[in-house]
Amino acid sequence: MSTDGKSGLSSADKASLLQRLTGHAKAEPRAPVAPKSKYRPDDLSDLESYDQFKIVRSAAELLGISDPYFRVHDGIAGAETAIEGRRFINFSSYNYLGLNGHPAVNAAAKDAIDRFGTSVSASRLVSGERPPHRELERRLADLHGADDCIAIVSGHATNVTVIGQLMGKNDLILHDAFAHNSIVQGAQLSGARRLSFPHNDVAAAERLLAENRARHKRVMLVIEGHYSMDGDIPDLPSFSVMARRHGAWLLVDEAHSLGVVGKTGKGIAEHFNLPASAADFWMGTLSKTLSGCGGYIAGKHDLIEYLKVSAPGFVYSVGMPPPVAAAAIASLDMMAREPERVARLNANTRLLMDEIGKAGLDTGLSAGFGIVPVITGSSISAARLSDGLFKRGINVQPIIYPAVPEKSSRLRFFVSSEHTSEQIATTVAILKEEAGRVFAEKVDMAALAMKLAKLRG
Ligand code: PMP
Repeated sequence: MSTDGKSGLSSADKASLLQRLTGHAKAEPRAPVAPKSKYRPDDLSDLESYDQFKIVRSAAELLGISDPYFRVHDGIAGAETAIEGRRFINFSSYNYLGLNGHPAVNAAAKDAIDRFGTSVSASRLVSGERPPHRELERRLADLHGADDCIAIVSGHATNVTVIGQLMGKNDLILHDAFAHNSIVQGAQLSGARRLSFPHNDVAAAERLLAENRARHKRVMLVIEGHYSMDGDIPDLPSFSVMARRHGAWLLVDEAHSLGVVGKTGKGIAEHFNLPASAADFWMGTLSKTLSGCGGYIAGKHDLIEYLKVSAPGFVYSVGMPPPVAAAAIASLDMMAREPERVARLNANTRLLMDEIGKAGLDTGLSAGFGIVPVITGSSISAARLSDGLFKRGINVQPIIYPAVPEKSSRLRFFVSSEHTSEQIATTVAILKEEAGRVFAEKVDMAALAMKLAKLRG
């Protein structure tokens, strides 16, 4: 091989480089001409959920209902909120203990900004570690009585990345039929076999485990500490015993039970007076009671260490912003210092439930811990009832198909420790009137379907 002695390139390489740099490269052989594709990249109608969302918006317009999505709140959303200058009694925010916006929480976040800025500008592994991260993880591990904890920038991503990382193709994930989307997404990502059991049905879960356990290496049973659509809780003692009997991991998602369930808000284990060993993974989010954003997993030291070096959503993602971690720590402090907030939240929830029941409406499965659904039976009545309440100064979101089955469409009330009994009484009085009006009025479904079909072309 001959080289020019200076660059170390062979003369053939040098000629080819010269040709490329001067634009005189030999013409590349042409790719065969493919037949013109019928696919139109700007047609989004076959993307999942896109059509559904457009139908909901069009239906709202046809029914004369204001669009319930992406409403802009002017400030802190707690027991009250302001939307475009109007005040509302608010039941649409999971600020359960009224800690988001609390002066002590705000002060902790501001102090963290002054010390660390608003970003850690790197993954925790490689230069992104700051003192509030470990402090928060220590506090959350202690709250659950676990060895250790890992905090991740998103609650949703926590389930996706942790379940996705721990489980694999020879494994089985068995989850409640009402499991949050993040659990299902994590299970799909993992490639494990996925089975669901009817909501809160211990016997059905046990049957599925007995039938399928032997065919899989690892098995993970996933439940939630408090179900966000229905406000009911699982029979943790039975699930825990079942997981142990079948050699399965148990993951409990405490997103809506932290600060809400258990005498001092420590979650479903506190409610049943069970030790941390009742589950292998205590998952939670910072976005509800803890006035922040992000998720965590508390559990055995070795498992947490493993996740810290392997879970892609942790390793390849930025560390949590310090003011968010600091706000969560300050919220934990407040929770410990003022357990009466948890008691007030649950007294308010029971009051709201009882009053709604007296008004003749159906509160579904609610166990009275901060979440109260009002089942309306159809998406249209849920949307119209929510709109009627909104017009009268009460903000409560409709939950409609496909988030829940059509027949169990509902309004969902998130209660706060800061609601007053007057606010609850006013709300139920207006709810009763509006429900009477909405359920009495008939909607011409055939005409609506025709108009929608026309709109969709
Ligand atoms: N788990 C459950 C049960 C949830 O309800 C949610 C969302 N509210 C999440 C996980 C995801 O948490 P985040 O919204 O904080 O990402």
